[in-house]
Amino acid sequence: MSLLGIDLGTTNSLAGIVDSGFPILLADSQGSRMTPSAVFFPPGGGEPAIGHVALRQRILHPDRTILSVKRLMGRRGQDVDPARFRFPLISAPNDPVRIALPNPGPPGLSPEEVSALILRRLKGIAESAVGEPCERAVITVPAYFHDAQRQATRRAGELAGLQVERLLNEPTAAALAYGLHRCEDHSRIAVYDFGGGTFDISILEIRGGVFDVLATQGDTYLGGDDIDWALSRFLLGRFEETYGPAKLDVESALSEAAERAKIALSTSDEYLLELPFLDGARHFSTRLDRSTLEDLARPVVERTRRHCRQALHDAGLSASELDHVILAGGSTYMPLVRNFVEEVFGRTPHTASAPEETVALGAVIQAGILEGTLPNLVLLDVTPLSLGIETFGGLMNVIIPRNTTIPCKAGEMFTNAISNQDSMLLRVLQGERELARDNWELGKLEIPFEPGPKGSARVGIQFGIDADGILEVLARDTLRNADTVLHIRDTAVNVDDERVERMITESVEHAFEDFSERTFTEAKLKAEELLPAVEAGLRQMGPALPAAERRQIESCAAEVERALRSGSANDLKSAVEALDQATEALAALLVDKALERALESP
Ligand code: ADP
Ligand code: MG
Repeated sequence: MSLLGIDLGTTNSLAGIVDSGFPILLADSQGSRMTPSAVFFPPGGGEPAIGHVALRQRILHPDRTILSVKRLMGRRGQDVDPARFRFPLISAPNDPVRIALPNPGPPGLSPEEVSALILRRLKGIAESAVGEPCERAVITVPAYFHDAQRQATRRAGELAGLQVERLLNEPTAAALAYGLHRCEDHSRIAVYDFGGGTFDISILEIRGGVFDVLATQGDTYLGGDDIDWALSRFLLGRFEETYGPAKLDVESALSEAAERAKIALSTSDEYLLELPFLDGARHFSTRLDRSTLEDLARPVVERTRRHCRQALHDAGLSASELDHVILAGGSTYMPLVRNFVEEVFGRTPHTASAPEETVALGAVIQAGILEGTLPNLVLLDVTPLSLGIETFGGLMNVIIPRNTTIPCKAGEMFTNAISNQDSMLLRVLQGERELARDNWELGKLEIPFEPGPKGSARVGIQFGIDADGILEVLARDTLRNADTVLHIRDTAVNVDDERVERMITESVEHAFEDFSERTFTEAKLKAEELLPAVEAGLRQMGPALPAAERRQIESCAAEVERALRSGSANDLKSAVEALDQATEALAALLVDKALERALESP
């Protein structure tokens, strides 16, 4: 089953898979790889239309055609300006924004429900193209998306019947598409992503094989649409020069024509715009050249400059310290934009042959890396926090330390702490604290084993994290050769940055008390083992020991008892060590005695 890579864009969305080792984007039955992020709800109810079909309804039914829903994902009333949307919104401060459709539409839709329709369409396109179900996906999100926006994107995926294996930052996806993960460590990359309705500039740094976002800036209301708008105003002026005031449908036809002209002028110097039946019967035809378009577009493109400067400033870098500048988004086809980026960053940007597909391609590459179907690529992922199990006494026993590169495997052997136990409960923990109770429990596993005296069981525990970030906990009773397995998805590797930071800060803050509690617990376990053994040994071999030695042992044992009651970790530790030392001779005698007995009994 293929893992999809999806760019869920503000204007356009795309999906792809890795096929025979190549990342490819999938086309619908019309041969189009791009699906406009548009959903139309027909007035009479019935199935919503998605993509190109929906986009065609935006002029006739602006209030039922949902565009740019990405801007509403994870947003609350105070975050959005309803005047910016041509469809009605239900927005109250602190409440998640909903989309209101004029009756008899559904009563109110969440942005994720609308995004889910787009995702479901992409899923459908992919399934027809590959001929099998596609139920898992990597979905890209802007680097600046906060937790609620990321959660909303995840939910949209789930509503569409997709298991979201990973949310990938769009600039990281673009860098992957350009093959920049093969760059040297500490390479710095600026990603200039200029789409239909949004502009994003991000500065990345490769650290230990992972892309780190150093800074991200942008404008969620700046893009190719603004250029279309400026050009259509210009065209309207020309039209009205000849024919006088235009009607509304002339304006909308002109804005569509403007986008077509703009796209054509990215590759040719001149374009003949012809609208034969504009405004009923009138034929409008006009010649445009690239420099006219560039004069109109320049103020729009200029608006990206201060964001570029700000991003560099936030990253603490000057343009000359960048190693690469890359372009993404359909609007970077424009020669004007390419020249502008070159001027701002003082270097020629890398260009792709289809920049509007760059982010989607990166998502597919990430999917291939996760699946292992792109074997030549390594994008190292690391465990953000340590993974381990709770041991007897409530301590954390780390099996895979934090920052271990995945995939990885590690294990240890355990035994029973109590005689005649026939199973143990294994708690799988994540975190940096010394005591089990302060870490997070990822799962539990009941392991049955051969009952026997204390210390007789032999249970091997192995943790393995595969390339998908799935943790497999394998427990093997080596005496019976029986395995018990637990799979933990996602949580071992995908942890919210904020939670990771909090965990690490807490582990530092509590380092001292955690350490002394661990010391105490370890010494206490040792004491509880030692004291009864010493008592039994003295009973058996006491008379054979010199009186002074015997007194020494007894006073050390009393010291251990006292330290146990006092609760002081250091006192207990040294008392246990002293007792251990004092009983060396006794232990030797016991061993001799045992050997004697073994030799006697034939
Ligand atoms: P988004 O990331 O916002 O979903 P895209 O990256 O798909 O958007 O970019 C869409 C924008 O790119 C539109 O404004 C479209 O007009 C513009 N665009 C696409 N192709 C070209 C081209 N050849 N020349 C200029 N602009 C283009
Ligand atoms: Mg985009």
